[in-house]
Amino acid sequence: MAFISQIWEIGSPESASVYLTSLAKEPIRLQNFINNNFQDQSKASSWIDSFDPRSGKPLAQIPRSTTSDVDLAVDAAAKAFPSWSQVSRQERSNILLRIASVICSKKEVFATWESVDQGKSLARARVEVERAISNFRYFATYILHDEGSVRFIDGQPSTLTYEHRSPVGVFGLISPWNMPLYLLTWKIAPCIAFGCTGVAKPSEVTSISAFLLAEALRQANLPPGVMNIIFGDGPGAGSELVKCPRVRGISFTGGTSTGIQIRRETVTDIGKHVSLELGGKNPTLIFDDVNLVQAVPLAASAAFENSGQICLCGSRIYVQRNILGSFLSTFVEYVKENYQLGQTIGPVVSREHYAKVRSYLKQAQEEGAAFLTGGVPEADPKHGYWIAPTVLGNLPHDSRVMREEIFGPVVSICAFETEEEAIQLANDNPNGLSSVLLTQDASRMRRVGERIDAGLVWVNCWLVRELSTAFGGMKSSGVGREGGAHSREVFTNLRTIHVR
Ligand code: NAD
Repeated sequence: MAFISQIWEIGSPESASVYLTSLAKEPIRLQNFINNNFQDQSKASSWIDSFDPRSGKPLAQIPRSTTSDVDLAVDAAAKAFPSWSQVSRQERSNILLRIASVICSKKEVFATWESVDQGKSLARARVEVERAISNFRYFATYILHDEGSVRFIDGQPSTLTYEHRSPVGVFGLISPWNMPLYLLTWKIAPCIAFGCTGVAKPSEVTSISAFLLAEALRQANLPPGVMNIIFGDGPGAGSELVKCPRVRGISFTGGTSTGIQIRRETVTDIGKHVSLELGGKNPTLIFDDVNLVQAVPLAASAAFENSGQICLCGSRIYVQRNILGSFLSTFVEYVKENYQLGQTIGPVVSREHYAKVRSYLKQAQEEGAAFLTGGVPEADPKHGYWIAPTVLGNLPHDSRVMREEIFGPVVSICAFETEEEAIQLANDNPNGLSSVLLTQDASRMRRVGERIDAGLVWVNCWLVRELSTAFGGMKSSGVGREGGAHSREVFTNLRTIHVR
């Protein structure tokens, strides 16, 4: 049964629910997309089950792609590369804009399935679909206005020198489950805009929007083989893609331990471009000059948006001691009123992830943490993976709960005394992805902001983006940056040419 043509027409959670009920016991089966064709998966030897996070019921089956599937997809990308890399920038731009238009015409379809598959609210899914569309539009126009420089060598007026960029080749694009469409398009759009071809592998936990995206690429007439999408698990298809010598670059977003594994597997392939966007344990620093009416909603949204499952979530809040009491009471009240399970806050993505988040809550309980909201959820959830937003106090700084990425609706709050101590606490962590700084003192914004070990520092705001500026982390949070010219760095090779 061609599931793609069915789900492509379903644009509301209500119709998705009716459709899923009509499938009875047969979940949606995804198909690899190679050379612009959905592959016949009837002979697939193995499938990965994916579940609806709201109910825990089977939702989809993902082909567990094998080495030969990866080879087939890499073949297609390698064959498409010579011609695609020669296509004019204007033509590539037109195609990216067409992809954006197709997604735009099916916004509600993408948002519906993203919400169903990941458990995020429809409102959140809509924001991410808009951002996915912007990814294509941004890189479509970026390549038209990209500038270079030509100059005469100093003292040698008959010798010109200029920098020339060319696309790297075939890329492996590997993405996580938390913002599936948005993060995958953040890789696919620059990859094809800069003239590379690729094989994308979305997370096996949330693959449906990538299946829809394949249909969008097909409808936009992207030439065959330029972007192939294969489904499967990390140690299987993901690792095969990483290790494949014909794959000349990897753009990866996911957990730090996977990033380390990828680094290990690519270390001898010295020329392979590897960009790693990894995990975080991001601090939110709140100084005593803030207006709580503004600071509390901002800190709460940074903690609990998408049930805390955004790599940029602020999961450790440090508050200047003299406002700790008033902050805590306002914050707890605000969270109880505004983050209600099943309404404004969804489930976590999977049973495995539920168990992981729960293990940290158990640990917090054993360490004597104060549960200001939430608690330890039941061990064996029967009806979806629901974890109440949990605010923890009274944890020591060296607790694993304070130091490790939990990636769920859990935030810990601690006090600090001085600006120096706030910086020290923020930086005392192996990660360095993002941070939020709340203060009204303009000189402190720079004084503190410029000393925090984080690739992204938000002052009195959170999650705002400008696609031309660098996105990425310091320390264990990653290697390389993406966005605008930084993505160009990832997807192109640079040579300097001297002409006499
Ligand atoms: P993950 O590392 O388990 O998986 C990410 C992707 O890598 C998946 O597609 C998976 O199948 C694949 N994979 C797993 N093992 C692999 C291997 N050995 N070789 C190749 N591919 C492999 O991460 P996750 O659980 O899907 O996502 C959550 C993590 O992602 C969190 O740590 C979060 O902070 C991070 N994240 C980071 C950013 C960022 O921009 N820095 C954004 C979103 C999520």
